[in-house]
Amino acid sequence: MPKILDGAAIAAAIKQEVAEEVRALAACGVRPGLAAVLVGSVAASEIYVRNKVQACAELGLSSDLIAPPDTVTTAEMLSLVAQLNARDDVDGILIQLPLPAQVDSKALLDAVDPAKDVDGFHPVNAGRLLAGRPGLVPCTPAGIIEILKRSHIPIAGQHAVVVGRSDIVGKPVAMLLLHQNATVTICHSKTRDLPAITRQADILVAAIGRPGFITPDMVKPGATLVDVGINRLTTREEFDRFFKGDAKREATFAKRGSVIVGDIDPKAFELSGAYTPVPGGVGLLTIAMLMANTVRAAKLRRGL
Ligand code: NDP
Repeated sequence: MPKILDGAAIAAAIKQEVAEEVRALAACGVRPGLAAVLVGSVAASEIYVRNKVQACAELGLSSDLIAPPDTVTTAEMLSLVAQLNARDDVDGILIQLPLPAQVDSKALLDAVDPAKDVDGFHPVNAGRLLAGRPGLVPCTPAGIIEILKRSHIPIAGQHAVVVGRSDIVGKPVAMLLLHQNATVTICHSKTRDLPAITRQADILVAAIGRPGFITPDMVKPGATLVDVGINRLTTREEFDRFFKGDAKREATFAKRGSVIVGDIDPKAFELSGAYTPVPGGVGLLTIAMLMANTVRAAKLRRGL
C-alpha cells in the first residue's frame, strides 16, 4: 500500500512551530507582520488572500490587507510597494498574482525589498537559492522539501525528476532538491520522450497545470509522487475520466459543480511508494511556509 504524505498534518506541525517562534519574538517586543496586496476581485485570489490573512491571525502575526482597484496603474503600485518597503511594521510583502494586464508584474516584483520578499520571487532571492546562500525561498517548493523530509523520504542520491520549469515551482524545487543531493532532471513541454525520463524517477514532482497528465505508464513502481497541480474539473466527462465510482467525490461534484484533480492521474498513485494527495497535499504547505518565511524575514531583518 502506498503511503499517503499528509499535507494537513505537516502544515499543522509547521504552523505550531511558527506560532511558538512568534511567541518567543513577542517576548523581545517583535511582532512579525505581513502586508498582502490584492488587486481587483478575482474570486480565487480573494480566497487565497483571505486564507493567508486568517493564518496570520491564528499564529499571532499582524497582517494588513491592501486592496487597490483593478484600474490601478504600475506607477501607483510601485508607489505602494515603496511605502511597504519603508514600513518598519511590515516584514513580508505579498503581491497576489495574477495582476491586471495593465500592471507590469515583473517591475513590481523586482521593486519589493528582497528582505521582505516572502514569496521568494525577487531575482536576488532566486540568485541566492541558486548559489546556495541563505535567503527567502518560494513557499510551494519549500513546502515540498518539508513534506519529503518530515515524511523521512530519502532525497540524497535519489533521481528526482521535476516536470515543469516555472520560476514559481519547477525551477526552485529542482534547485532545492539538488541542494539536498538528489540527481535532478528538469523536464518541460519540449522534452523528448517524457515517459522514458519520468519512469526513471525515484521522486517525481509534477508542476504542469494539466489534469492527470502523468499517467500510470509514466511512473516507476514504488516511486514517491509529489503532485503540485491544482486543476478544477467541471464537466461530467472530465469527472468520469478520473473519479467514476468515487462516492465521496461524487457528492462534492453534486454539491459544488466541480472537483479538484492534480497533475498526476490518481490511478498512478496506486503504483507509488508514497504520494501527496490532491487536495490535502502540497497545497496546504504553501500558506504554512508563507508564515514561516514572514517570521524568518522578521528575524533576518533584525539580525536575530
Ligand atoms: P506554469 O504554467 O507556469 O508552468 C507549467 C510548466 O509545465 C511549464 O514549464 C511547461 O513547460 C510545463 N508543461 C506544460 N505542458 C507540458 C507538457 N505537455 N509536457 C511537459 N511539460 C509541460 O505553471 P506553475 O508552475 O505556476 O503551476 C503548475 C501547477 O501547479 C498548476 O496546476 C498550478 O495551479 C499549481 N500550483 C500549485 C500551488 C500550490 O500551492 N499547490 C502553487 C503554485 C502552482 P514550458 O516551460 O516548456 O512551457
